[in-house]
Amino acid sequence: MFDIGVNLTSAQFARDRDEVVSEAFAAGLSGMLITGTNRHESEEACGLALRYKNCWSTAGVHPHDSSSWTPEVEQAIREMAARPQVVAVGECGLDFNRNFSTPAEQESAFSAQLALAASLNKPVFLHCRDAHERFMALLSPWLDKLPGAVVHCFTGTRAELEACLARGLYIGITGWVCDERRGLGLRELLPLIPAERLLIETDAPYLLPRDLSPKPASRRNVPAHLPHILERIAYWRGEVSDELEQITDENAKRLFGIDF
Ligand SMILES: [Zn+2]
Repeated sequence: MFDIGVNLTSAQFARDRDEVVSEAFAAGLSGMLITGTNRHESEEACGLALRYKNCWSTAGVHPHDSSSWTPEVEQAIREMAARPQVVAVGECGLDFNRNFSTPAEQESAFSAQLALAASLNKPVFLHCRDAHERFMALLSPWLDKLPGAVVHCFTGTRAELEACLARGLYIGITGWVCDERRGLGLRELLPLIPAERLLIETDAPYLLPRDLSPKPASRRNVPAHLPHILERIAYWRGEVSDELEQITDENAKRLFGIDF
């Protein structure tokens, strides 16, 4: 079982990062991808990927951090993304929900990272929130030049899902789908995703599944909750979770060019 989205550099893991990782493996994970969200975090993520077995990382600049994009940052991300343990460019994309960086800054950092990934022949780890039209418009011209792409933490509509699938994108599903307030729409879309395009993730320390029983004392999400998310996704798809685990593992191996 492979978690494609762990924000292991988060300060929320500062005190017990080693335990969080060993508990994840004890819970049944066989590997994880550590998310880089800006130059500094990407460097940290890369260091953690070297430290822990069966861990890899991404290098990139999140839409929220797009205002930090400069030629120097681009050069640093390019250098990091060429390292063997860095298996995707990202997290990059567009987030017009909060606009922590302006839409213009987001679009230029996103386009630059797509070009960078294409030149390094690396897949991209994508974030899209409330920006589907522009996201697809900027992404589409690059898709035949990229070895693969995953929209992580997909939370869009049916039409958006169908557009992503038609373009060959992988779909990352988090514990958002376990949320009885806002995950119901996504739950209904789960059977529409071909198993060969599905990836699973916790997005820890964010998005603690709301249906864990008993409810954990901490609101912090951890990668050890991935088996719960897999089990719920399999249930709502009407599938056996062991089989879905195998297929999603194969997907992660194929997309990121790794073995675990
Ligand atoms: Zn994201």
